[in-house]
Amino acid sequence: MNYIILDMEWNQAVDRSKVVQSPVILRGEVIQIGAVKTDESFNLIDRMKINIAPKYYRKMNRHVEKITGITNAQLAKGEKFPAAFERFKAWCGDDFRFITWGFDDVAMLSDNMALHGFDPSWGSDYINLQLIYKNQIDNERTQWALSDAVERLQIPMDIQAHDAMNDAWFTYEICRRLDMQKGLAEYSCMSAGARIPLRRDVIKNITEYKQVLADPRVRDIPCPDCQAVMRSQEWLSFGGGRKSVIAECTQHGKFLVKLSCKKASATLWNAARTIYRADEDAIASYEKKLAKQREIIAKRRSERKTDDNNSNV
Ligand SMILES: [Zn+2]
Repeated sequence: MNYIILDMEWNQAVDRSKVVQSPVILRGEVIQIGAVKTDESFNLIDRMKINIAPKYYRKMNRHVEKITGITNAQLAKGEKFPAAFERFKAWCGDDFRFITWGFDDVAMLSDNMALHGFDPSWGSDYINLQLIYKNQIDNERTQWALSDAVERLQIPMDIQAHDAMNDAWFTYEICRRLDMQKGLAEYSCMSAGARIPLRRDVIKNITEYKQVLADPRVRDIPCPDCQAVMRSQEWLSFGGGRKSVIAECTQHGKFLVKLSCKKASATLWNAARTIYRADEDAIASYEKKLAKQREIIAKRRSERKTDDNNSNV
């Protein structure tokens, strides 16, 4: 089996009213594929870069242009997606597994495949290298930008970032600095439910951060399968605006829900809510953290009581 280390760039609609709604809500249209092919020991076999001319988002979104440096003129010169994808698929071969930095690329590729009538499940069994990096190098955060890891591992940044080929190459350099055999063995044991998000919603303009969990848009969590409001257990708070909970649909079982709150303006907050299937590992981990959270709260309460008693003396 080979590994295909994949990175892509995608263009976005110039404004929200232009977002394609069917057959998928198209968050981005792929304009560049960069990939590095290796054998199982991460020896380099080949690399590939394809520029793609988008069908729907044909004008460069200003933000994407700024990041990637790709202009409208360059965009128009690319190959059309169906031909580019067929060529990429043939290059990948039959026996491979994708490695990407984060969850976004494979989800985006899948949306773009669906858009053009291809089977969107192709390549969906991928490795998110961030998780291995997190286990071996830095467990402080859940999400690391590729550039953070490149800097931390002292990989020379002598090529331009936000070019799909260069970012795939950086990702390959990261692989070479990690214990990939150990990481891959551990990866297969990591909870599957914690890896693939089923649904993501951004709830905007929350006025009271302290009341965020009372906001019905946050509180009422829809089941990703049937949209029915699920029954939630007790929320865990991790600081930095991150929270999680286990919610249950009577028909479709338990889900792990993660919330990440960020300040949007001086008075308003946004919350990104992501829902994953909760397997046994996720539930056990939630229960362990919940017990710990309760213990801390009880301890604080008893300390406060002692303080009160002392001040009464
Ligand atoms: Zn349901």
